[in-house]
Amino acid sequence: MTNRSATKIYSAQAELYYLLAEALVEPPEWLANAGKDWELTAAVQTLAQLTGSRAAQRAVDALGDIPAEDISIRRRRYRLVAAGAGRPPLSLYESLHREGKLYGALTDAVAQVYHIAGLEPEGAELPDHASVELSFLGWLAEKAAASPADAADWQQLARKFIEVHAGQWLPEVGQTLAFTNDAVYAPIGFLLMDWLKEAARPPRPQRLNAEACNLRLPIIPDAEACTLCGFCVQVCPTQALLIRETGTETGLILKPLDCISCDKCEQVCEYNALTMRKTGETVRTEPYALRISERVACAHCGTPMVSAAELDAIAVMLGERPQWLNYCMDCRPLFM
Ligand code: SF4
Ligand code: SF4
Repeated sequence: MTNRSATKIYSAQAELYYLLAEALVEPPEWLANAGKDWELTAAVQTLAQLTGSRAAQRAVDALGDIPAEDISIRRRRYRLVAAGAGRPPLSLYESLHREGKLYGALTDAVAQVYHIAGLEPEGAELPDHASVELSFLGWLAEKAAASPADAADWQQLARKFIEVHAGQWLPEVGQTLAFTNDAVYAPIGFLLMDWLKEAARPPRPQRLNAEACNLRLPIIPDAEACTLCGFCVQVCPTQALLIRETGTETGLILKPLDCISCDKCEQVCEYNALTMRKTGETVRTEPYALRISERVACAHCGTPMVSAAELDAIAVMLGERPQWLNYCMDCRPLFM
């Protein structure tokens, strides 16, 4: 994944969590607008496009169809769904929801996680309120967006927090909202439920098994056509493609479980070497090489240089194969 794509995805995740947090308290002014104008809908759209998230895809239309109305009506809706006409009121605290009492052991456990992450939440709400837990996930996504080098660590912490805390109860809150059939809060509830369920599970293997027949993956029918230039690796938004170098070989590797069939690799390949193809029923799940080329050793000192594929591409570009191409950068001056 390029840093730019990754930053966009993490920023959209941060928006999603922050705005869901706002949607679960007394409605802010933006909630009175039509759903199609919400920044929440824009964030969901971005995530649907860039990550192929099913939860985001499902939410795009549902949120977009929410009509505008006066903020006072929105607030009345909120009070009605929170009060739980005909069912218990919505419990928006993790300890209340899971332990049956406000300020239970889970409240301290959640506060401890924030502390470990270097965050001391401010404000009147308890640390295990739905809006605070969602804001924490927003903060983690924001950290990942700000620092691509540490993004994996922030994301791992977010996954763990969802696994142990947010994912254990907020999907049920989402489901309760979804079942109210309220024109505003039901779509928000579905998004909350679907998104956290999706974020909690390792989705790729399940997705691959269930949809293997319809999955499209990149292939390179004619290996010689691929110069191992690496452009496809640079545009892949999920890092499903990577260049792997050993002392003797350079390979273009595909991690099929990470591919979201976005076609970006096919579009960027100026040699038309890579194309997308529907898989059959049998799909390999482990990473495998789409193209391998031996690395050329310097004709003078023996140091491994670039791959033979890259060297051939340079020779084609130059229209000849000059002698100096056979030497590494250090030895080249000796022979020029
Ligand atoms: S498939 Fe195309 S873009 Fe990717 S490394 Fe090969 S030539 Fe470059
Ligand atoms: S289609 Fe290509 S660019 Fe898109 S996720 Fe799959 S490997 Fe990456």
